[in-house]
Amino acid sequence: MANMPIFDGHNDVLLRLHKNNAAHKERLFLDGAETGHIDLPKSAAGGLAGGLCAIFIPSPSTAPDRNGDFVPPNSADAMVETLAMARLLFDIERRSEGRVKVCRSAAEIRACIETNVFAPVLHIEGAEMIGYDLDALYVLHQAGLRSLGPVWSRPNIFAYGVPFRFPSSPDIGPGLTELGKDLVRACNELKILIDLSHMNEKGFWDIARLSKAPLVATHSNMHGLCAHSRNLTDRQLDAIRATGGMVGINFGVLFLRQDGVKNPDTALDLIVEHIDYAVERLGIDHVGFGSDFDGTTIPTDLKDAAGLPHLVAALNARGYDAGSIEKLCYGNWLSVLERTWGA
Ligand SMILES: [Zn+2]
Repeated sequence: MANMPIFDGHNDVLLRLHKNNAAHKERLFLDGAETGHIDLPKSAAGGLAGGLCAIFIPSPSTAPDRNGDFVPPNSADAMVETLAMARLLFDIERRSEGRVKVCRSAAEIRACIETNVFAPVLHIEGAEMIGYDLDALYVLHQAGLRSLGPVWSRPNIFAYGVPFRFPSSPDIGPGLTELGKDLVRACNELKILIDLSHMNEKGFWDIARLSKAPLVATHSNMHGLCAHSRNLTDRQLDAIRATGGMVGINFGVLFLRQDGVKNPDTALDLIVEHIDYAVERLGIDHVGFGSDFDGTTIPTDLKDAAGLPHLVAALNARGYDAGSIEKLCYGNWLSVLERTWGA
């Protein structure tokens, strides 16, 4: 039986490849390699049809500042890294002989799924490359940017990203800055999806009040099952549901396990339990995957993108019918992207 196509809400393949010293990093993706969660052969083997590919710039130092927060990169350095990772994605597309197409609309993603072309979408996780004038936002949008999280889990000029804490409420730190509110309005104007996944709770509610688009958390789990600061409370889930929004379930063991331990020896069924909880709270039309492939530690049984059929089988075993599985695997993502971006 053919694999169910999967469109996924979040991966860090660009950063993983960018950090590699290979002269032609795009070949690691196109030809495949032993390590890593995502490349073209693994995606073909597992049914991964595409997803939001993050540009994320790590903090210059792993040492936190005096408030215990990660320090963001400065804007100029962040732009250099952004251009390198965006170019890498375009190199992959250009040298793919038609097997990869950077998508800018839901119709393009749909066409890619139908013709077996891998469909990445450019996403920013932490907007440090965008300055006070927001000029870079408008230019990056022209280059294909369609999704943006104002912060990673650290503060910047726009907002305050939720620090990694366990167990903890996501209510840590202040909300959006005035400039952050301008960024949200500009994203609405450009129809760029605003990702809530690394927002703290005050920032989440600021965006919920301000944004005209469906509320979307591309890679976040259920606080009711795992009390990590990165996970979503029931109240947040209700707000997402009220806007016809969407949650992509993260495969990271840190955000799945009740004990919050980073142990890859974690049952695949725990992902299904977070999906069950999300479906119960949001409805079957508002849940999908947000793997965090190449960005976090995932269950050994899943291993990488080639292991996705195991997850589909686990959903099937849990009693999800074919129509529901199709919604979870790609239908809901296409729907929310279409409603955010316009047809
Ligand atoms: Zn993330």
